[in-house]
Amino acid sequence: MSSVYDVIVVGGGPAGMTAALYALRNGKSVLVIEKEGFGGQITHSPKVENYPGYLSMSGNEFADHLFDQIIAQGAEFEIETVVSVRDEGSRKLVITEEGSTYETLTVILANGVKHRMLGLEGEDDLVGEGISFCAVCDGDFYSGKTVCVAGGGNSALQEAILLSEKCSDVIMLQDLEYFTGEEKLQEVLFSRENVHSYTNVKIVSLLKEEDEFAGVMIEDKTNGSRLRISCDGLFVAIGLIPENDAYKNLADLNAYGYYDADERCLTKTPGVYVAGDCRSKAIRQLTTAAADGAVAALAACRYINENK
Ligand SMILES: Cc1cc2nc3c(=O)[nH]c(=O)nc-3n(C[C@H](O)[C@H](O)[C@H](O)COP(=O)(O)OP(=O)(O)OC[C@H]3O[C@@H](n4cnc5c(N)ncnc54)[C@H](O)[C@@H]3O)c2cc1C
Repeated sequence: MSSVYDVIVVGGGPAGMTAALYALRNGKSVLVIEKEGFGGQITHSPKVENYPGYLSMSGNEFADHLFDQIIAQGAEFEIETVVSVRDEGSRKLVITEEGSTYETLTVILANGVKHRMLGLEGEDDLVGEGISFCAVCDGDFYSGKTVCVAGGGNSALQEAILLSEKCSDVIMLQDLEYFTGEEKLQEVLFSRENVHSYTNVKIVSLLKEEDEFAGVMIEDKTNGSRLRISCDGLFVAIGLIPENDAYKNLADLNAYGYYDADERCLTKTPGVYVAGDCRSKAIRQLTTAAADGAVAALAACRYINENK
């Protein structure tokens, strides 16, 4: 284990692991700190069919390959939650919830985003008890049952496609008048007989029976009429929110809480870079996360070489 790392990467998602790969290939010592499981959000995707060079693979396969690749190149890793990064000029201290302090010349923040919640009463308590964010992880629990999917973008459509293969009925609840995800995904999903949809509706409450999740109450946004929908599970796929506040001393945030950095991945703090979904950008995908990882790592390597 290095006493002072060249690069510490916060977050072992696609951006973070790609950053590690590029820094390692440039001869730098790298520690990747990941709080949950390596791979980030993509591990929730059953099928990835838009990553260049691969016809089709699961998100877990992608994550496993990338993890194997960085380990083969000599990456060190820790499963810990980073709570702060202290700038001490030429050195940075990375501090974790578990009580560790790691010293490094540069830091790449690749801490991604988390799922947006509906903001309804009782929602937190129902996560894992009727409410889920991941069809790959939890879909089997609902085999032969009825589920609702909140959302209308690519993630919601992908979740629903997977669920429609296991569940008796999948009911899409979209708060816009139309679905915003890719046409191709819409074609696949809505060609299935067990898929139904309501558009321009909002979920106004979560229903319980005998203290168990039992469905949702939806409201038509045009006329305010309400409808009770009984279901066994609710999959929420309504977007993502950044968790960057802990690092705003190092990197400016935009109005939505994303790191206010462009594709050069630079922050206001020399030696601190950002990469992936956590930064302000138009497209949040594997390709852009990987691109950021490479750019940030090469900027970090240049900084180290220039400040030797
Ligand atoms: C269901 C679903 C399907 C998708 N399908 C596709 C697809 O088909 N094609 C495609 O291109 N993209 C897809 N995406 C988007 C893609 O997964 C993301 O764009 C990509 O994962 C972003 O990578 P990232 O490394 O920036 O962030 P993330 O994947 O969010 O990874 C960030 C990592 O940082 C870790 N972390 C956060 N905070 C800390 C901390 N304080 N300490 C330590 N670790 C921390 C997190 O645990 C996480 O592992 C999908 C996303 C979802 C949710």
